Amino acid sequence: MKKISKLLIGTNNRGKYREIRDLLPKYIKTHSTSEFKLKSPIEDGQTFIENSIIKSKHFSKKTKMLCLADDSGLEIDLLDKNPGIYSARWGGKKGDFKKAIKRVYRELSKKDKNWKKKKIRARFVCALSICYLDKKIASVSGKIEGYISTKPKGKNGFGYDPIFIPKKKKKTFGEMSSLQKYKIDHRFVAFRKIRKFL
Ligand code: IMP
Repeated sequence: MKKISKLLIGTNNRGKYREIRDLLPKYIKTHSTSEFKLKSPIEDGQTFIENSIIKSKHFSKKTKMLCLADDSGLEIDLLDKNPGIYSARWGGKKGDFKKAIKRVYRELSKKDKNWKKKKIRARFVCALSICYLDKKIASVSGKIEGYISTKPKGKNGFGYDPIFIPKKKKKTFGEMSSLQKYKIDHRFVAFRKIRKFL
């Protein structure tokens, strides 16, 4: 297969764009959706994979470029895997993650008053899809298992990072440096799998 030299990263989130850029081989020249002033599509898929396909198809169609898009989120077992594909939406229109985290704690307390005494299993999931110029799609997904912290800790990262403790670690993602987090997180695991399609 011919190596890719040019790739559009289908996300309007700066933090994610940077992390994805850092994970890609250096010979690939990346472009961001902001260069084209593109709006994000409506994410009405039922799974992370479906939503990543919707995004990569949409941005590829608009730009006639090969596009890599991701969809990711946090699944909490006690909340029937919510917020899941609704992870961004729990932050409201302004993407307020303090609000999203408060909602997680509120919903956990509703399910079980004693949740803080238990290990609340959770995982971050990342689906990645590439839409090629012939409209063919390649998709993969990666995850990292862990637990919900009884209170938010750390100021690094974004989203639900302050409340997620990866398995076998003591710190939340919010307490880790970005380098520490990037080496183990769900996007990294998914990237290892998609490399062969680039
Ligand atoms: P997406 O942009 O639709 O994929 O939304 C992903 C949402 O999931 C983000 O807005 C965050 O709320 C959450 N999320 C995904 N990955 C991470 C992560 O690495 N750390 C913290 N939150 C994340």
